[in-house]
Amino acid sequence: MNIPELVDYHCHVDLYPDYVNQFARCQEQRKITLAVTTTPRAWRRNVELARNAPLIRVALGLHPQLVAEFPNDLSTFREHLPEARFVGEVGIDKSPRFYQSYDQQKETFDEVLALCSKAGGKILSVHSVWATRDVLDSITSILPADKGRVVLHWFAGTFAEVGRAIELGCYFSINAEMLKKQKQRALVERIPLDRILTETDGPFTGLQPGEVTKCTEELGILHRINPIEVNRRVLENVRILESF
Ligand code: MN
Repeated sequence: MNIPELVDYHCHVDLYPDYVNQFARCQEQRKITLAVTTTPRAWRRNVELARNAPLIRVALGLHPQLVAEFPNDLSTFREHLPEARFVGEVGIDKSPRFYQSYDQQKETFDEVLALCSKAGGKILSVHSVWATRDVLDSITSILPADKGRVVLHWFAGTFAEVGRAIELGCYFSINAEMLKKQKQRALVERIPLDRILTETDGPFTGLQPGEVTKCTEELGILHRINPIEVNRRVLENVRILESF
């Protein structure tokens, strides 16, 4: 029952209208799911929903797009961090709509990294829209690889940045939506298979939790291997990542 069949390493399971059923379904369908959250106020409820679902990992989140609106979330985050093995969604968003809160976002993200570094052993799912360099700079100076592991979610940096992230020991969670763009495909082609995970980022992509088949097919094309083999490698990557 607990032998996983596939991996969705970044999904907002609690944002689906029928989220209670979705939690149960992830487990029944044997999907390793990283249930990311956007606010630490959602932590307790998510933990409760995943109580009988060993394949679901709940992540303690503090979404960069909400940082300005809920400045007190950082203290709630701090409070729950000792209970959390997984952290996300966290990061920085410098797209035009959120640029205004950049200073606050960066300060918050740096504090999140410092807390994780101090605690040790955390696995983080990180958002870096229009802010790849900032995110990589912060990780470099605050969270060394022996203090925590980073999964870059929906990564969209340059070729140089992808190389830098690989050197830093980062993993990458890839979704089918990303792979619709040629530039992104060229980027993903450069990521070694042992650093690749699959995700949906549902419900924002319109995908259901664990709906990663299209993604593994496309990854198979890019890396010239069978999609079944892609899936097997991704499951192995999770095992190695989580043995940290
Ligand atoms: Mn997300």
